[in-house]
Amino acid sequence: MNKQDAKHLNKSKKVIMNKLLLSLSIASLSTAVFAGSGTQWSYSGKKGPDNWAQLSADYYACNGKSQSPVNLTGFIETDLTPIEFDYLAGGNEVLNNGHTIQVNYQAGSGIKLDGKTFELKQFHFHAPSENHIKGESFPLEAHYVHAASDGELAVVAVMFREGAKNEVLQKAWKGMPKKAGEKIGLYENIQAANLLPDNKDYYRFTGSLTTPPCSEGVRWHVLKDSLEASKEQIDLFTHTLGHDNNRPIQSLNDREVLE
Ligand SMILES: [Zn+2]
Repeated sequence: MNKQDAKHLNKSKKVIMNKLLLSLSIASLSTAVFAGSGTQWSYSGKKGPDNWAQLSADYYACNGKSQSPVNLTGFIETDLTPIEFDYLAGGNEVLNNGHTIQVNYQAGSGIKLDGKTFELKQFHFHAPSENHIKGESFPLEAHYVHAASDGELAVVAVMFREGAKNEVLQKAWKGMPKKAGEKIGLYENIQAANLLPDNKDYYRFTGSLTTPPCSEGVRWHVLKDSLEASKEQIDLFTHTLGHDNNRPIQSLNDREVLE
């Protein structure tokens, strides 16, 4: 084999490796959200957040130094480029995985961050909110989960205050499966762009998945503006899951929160 061939082989190995990593991170995204597959975990008791890292060798990252969620504080002012949203009406399936209610998204929607494209895979909810803003907790938080072609993950988070009934949320709530593991198809696709505030200013930091395997290296963007949902909508979510689904706040350690 000459040098050129070796170089080529190394390159294709790298491509295969990247593809493998991508399918792994997407697989862990789905295991993270699939009760019943992988090692079981929960939000309280012996399998609760304090013990996630001990439940499985795959969950070692849960003890990492760049974990989510966090209390967003000590902001560093900088020139953040706006997130470019390019969402189609593609939310076509609602899943109850026992840990959250999740709307799966058809391919073709995404965001652009600093010139890099991330495809929207799904969005799901936490009650009460996982992240806090300047010490404030919110009754509900949505996470829009995106993946780039190299496997890098980017989450956009939106807080909800208690207020008026949210009609877009209602489209997902209408078909909310009652039992863990149940999934239903939606008659009318949900447009995630309608479930974002008008002002898209955001806080940025580096974190992790907030559920096992807690993989780090996730780009986090928490929108400064919030939306409203009614008390009935928030209660229906918590009642259907049967428990709160927020991981406790993790230490920022030496991370900076940009705004
Ligand atoms: Zn989440």
